[in-house]
Amino acid sequence: MFTTLNLLSEILSPAHICPYDQACSYLDSAAKELKLDPNLITILSHPRRAITVSIPIKLDNGDVQVLVGHRVQHCNVLGPYKGGTRYHPAVTLREISALAMLMTWKCALLGIPYGGAKGGITLNPNHYSVGELERITRRYTSELINDIGPAVDIPAPDVGASAREMAWMMDTYSVNVGHAVPGVVTGKPISIGGSLGREMATGRGAMIMAREALALHGKTIADAHIVIQGFGNVGSSVALLLHQAGAKILAISRSSGGIFSEAGLDIPALKAYADLHNKELVGFPGSVQISNQDLLVLPCDVLIPAALENQITAENVSRVEASIIVEAANGPITLEADRALESQGVMVLPDILANAGGVVASYLEWVQGLSYLFWHEERVNREMEGLMVEAFQKVMKQSKAQQTPLRLAAYALAVGRVAQAIKDRGLYP
Ligand code: GLU
Repeated sequence: MFTTLNLLSEILSPAHICPYDQACSYLDSAAKELKLDPNLITILSHPRRAITVSIPIKLDNGDVQVLVGHRVQHCNVLGPYKGGTRYHPAVTLREISALAMLMTWKCALLGIPYGGAKGGITLNPNHYSVGELERITRRYTSELINDIGPAVDIPAPDVGASAREMAWMMDTYSVNVGHAVPGVVTGKPISIGGSLGREMATGRGAMIMAREALALHGKTIADAHIVIQGFGNVGSSVALLLHQAGAKILAISRSSGGIFSEAGLDIPALKAYADLHNKELVGFPGSVQISNQDLLVLPCDVLIPAALENQITAENVSRVEASIIVEAANGPITLEADRALESQGVMVLPDILANAGGVVASYLEWVQGLSYLFWHEERVNREMEGLMVEAFQKVMKQSKAQQTPLRLAAYALAVGRVAQAIKDRGLYP
């Protein structure tokens, strides 16, 4: 394990256009809006710690392979570091660093007492057996054993990970410290202290944001035409909840291809179809095939990118026809595309608000774990809804008062809260 200055300079190198530059540029815009002291921006544009670990594991065939994992801890001025762990072949230190910074703003915006972090392992989880994934997860956790903990840094699932990985992480940590520690991770199975409602929470939060945004356009979910990119945990949950509320889901995609139906897709039937067909959607009865690129430019009321970063770009943005975009993924719109959407008059609900349902439910799970008192699902959903709607209203108010786009309004609220905390705590030594 190592944390070195040269790693930090790799993250911050201006030589490449990278997700970290994009994250810093949103920070800069918010700082300008708030007329922040430049010294504070300097602090906030550097992650506090970046940890890279080698993960040597024995494959099922007896060979040894060494994978690379990261955990970036951006800022802990408001509380323990918090953020997911991504299992994906495109994971890099830069991407994880950008996502760690986003987590700082997300938690600050939602008013939950956490700083931001993110973890990731560069691998394609589909290429490993369950046993191999367990060994990878346990070794990654043990390499980070001194860097995580319920008061220090609390991982959760992200792209490519689920409750199963969180159970292995919780067990590895607990065995090492000698007693069960439910608060070390969130998004874990209910049997070991997970929270009811957590699994659907990111999708539920995105559904709530779509509902609130539609209401400002004089519409309800039941009158809405929706397009969703992604059918993983977030995409499938938001699709199901919107379908249950009466929306017409016109199209959904996965990385391997998407489907379209003018009459609207039957989401429970689609889920059953995907479960039977190795997660594939193409071929679902009553639908036609559509590419990811064509899906993003379909006319609709709400477009929900719920997959990976950089999907709406300078190349396709002028063809986007949605009235509202709910960023259920982190960073699905590039900086240039974001500016273009603003002049096209598209309402964009930024990721730090739109996908915050996951970390809000994580917070509620952590509180339940620390207090050893577990709630009914209805209470979890109610508390989450309250925090999400309050944040939505604050962002709308800020945007109206300052005449700024919603993303800038959300960043100004979040960065302002963290900056105030740094000022109040002071700089040590
Ligand atoms: N991975 C999710 C996110 O990006 C959840 C993080 C968490 O619950 O800590 O917000």
